[in-house]
Amino acid sequence: MAARTGKKPPAPAKCPACNGTGQTTETVRVGARKKQETGHKQTVMCLDCLGTGAKP
Ligand SMILES: [Zn+2]
Repeated sequence: MAARTGKKPPAPAKCPACNGTGQTTETVRVGARKKQETGHKQTVMCLDCLGTGAKP
């Protein structure tokens, strides 16, 4: 029976799109229908927070 001493530290508002990293990884797709994935992934700047990682 432990006493509940833990307080939740205030979490900084993170950008939900990139989870605060400022970058997102997207899969490169080819083809007109973009159904085929090449297996390559590229890291791109998060467009939601513009790379800051903060919640817009
Ligand atoms: Zn972001």
